[in-house]
Amino acid sequence: MIFDNKEKIGGVRLRFAPSPTGFLHIGNLRSALFGYFIAKSQKGKFILRLEDTDQKREVEGALDKLLEVFDWLNVKFDEGPKQGGNYGPYIQTQRLDKYQKLADELIERGGAYRCFCTSERLEKMRLQQQEEKLPPRYDRCCRDLSSTEIENKLKNGEKFVIRQKMPLDGDIIVHDEIRGDISFPIKDLDDHVLVKSNGVPTYQFASVVDDHLMEITHVSRGDEWLPSFPKNILLYQAFGWQPPKFIHLPLILNKSGGKLSKRQGDVYVEDYIQKGYLSEAIINFCALLGWHPKGEQEILSIGEIISNFRFQDIGASPAVFDEEKLDYLNGYYIRQKTKTELMDLVRPYFVAENIEINESQLEKIITLSQERMKKLADIIELSAFILKLPDYEGELLAWKKIDKEKAQENLKLMLEFLDKVPDQKWNKEELETSIFTYIEEQNGKNGDFLWPLRVALSGLKNSPSPFEIAWALGKEESLNRITLAINK
Ligand code: GLU
Repeated sequence: MIFDNKEKIGGVRLRFAPSPTGFLHIGNLRSALFGYFIAKSQKGKFILRLEDTDQKREVEGALDKLLEVFDWLNVKFDEGPKQGGNYGPYIQTQRLDKYQKLADELIERGGAYRCFCTSERLEKMRLQQQEEKLPPRYDRCCRDLSSTEIENKLKNGEKFVIRQKMPLDGDIIVHDEIRGDISFPIKDLDDHVLVKSNGVPTYQFASVVDDHLMEITHVSRGDEWLPSFPKNILLYQAFGWQPPKFIHLPLILNKSGGKLSKRQGDVYVEDYIQKGYLSEAIINFCALLGWHPKGEQEILSIGEIISNFRFQDIGASPAVFDEEKLDYLNGYYIRQKTKTELMDLVRPYFVAENIEINESQLEKIITLSQERMKKLADIIELSAFILKLPDYEGELLAWKKIDKEKAQENLKLMLEFLDKVPDQKWNKEELETSIFTYIEEQNGKNGDFLWPLRVALSGLKNSPSPFEIAWALGKEESLNRITLAINK
């Protein structure tokens, strides 16, 4: 069989075939990554092909933006518009001659025909079908034109599209690697357009032709393409080509069971990057959208995903897009970063907010916030109280049995004590030990001192410990804030 030969000779080849229509939808990224995982788990090639035949929908600069995302993810294409390869060009509008030649060949083989129907006729037909509540379908008027009729029309310069000549009845059984055999009644299939009157192919035609010419061995794509699947297979059959294996990835739903949509949250990868999700987290999260690793472990590096990935372990039922899980994974990967790495990662967020911050402040802020960050952008909120004391009500100083006034008395004692702590002992550990010892010496209760102290230093109900904050603020600022609290 040709297909087996392909596997032996050329190895596994998967492609990501986006249309350059703007930002990258997270569902498309999942499709791309699954293609990458399958290819790399079998030491195969991962190819980028730009499907830009629908020029109306094209957004300028989309390819560069897309490549930036993949660079950021550190996911490399083996072949594509930028790196080239033996199967190029990798941009469909640069391959029009190939489609034209193969469309002519298909007409010769009897698998397609020229349709000269005018748009007025087609529109009339569509309206009538609508009125009769019939599904919109081409009525095959040009399917059996005689060769003289065709010649005359061509001579007259009549415009035409090329349509696929579908078999007229029976069932077509197609094989999906996840769902098994699926049967479709052929009568439901339209003689759809393969090449438009301007010579540009439709997605349906170009993708089959390219998958064949580029020797793609596995097509992994979203299951919204299942309805096209029988048409694709019939096209392979009409050409006498061996189709690749098809892997239709499960739908991605939001937590309430609906379609992922912009209204419920972000759907574009670029939004997630901007908010400060790390590439490790995005990759790990996307891998779990439909794939179930054999073990229990869900935190997986890209290397671990690739070495464990078998497309047979992809499920057919919808995957749930759980943002909490994404946050959890992201928090985990943020905690794995070194302080210096994290400082580099968060610096742009301060720049974007026009917040000036020096390196030693930044380092302290990271020490205080790393455990609490779910995404990089959180750093702004988490560090705001360090950079500027928030306004707070004096009543917040009160704690359990001690009222505001008593809390302020305790703060006075604290102030006296802290004033005497030498600069070189002003660090988290030593502050913690000496403050606890001091409270003990006063026969005080920890909370009665620590709560007012923490509120005085942070102005917040919830915050890191007072020792950490005091260290991050430095002695002078800490004493100032305590004095302020005493006078509230
Ligand atoms: N160009 C199609 C898209 O952007 C590709 C679908 C496929 O992978 O076959 O969705």
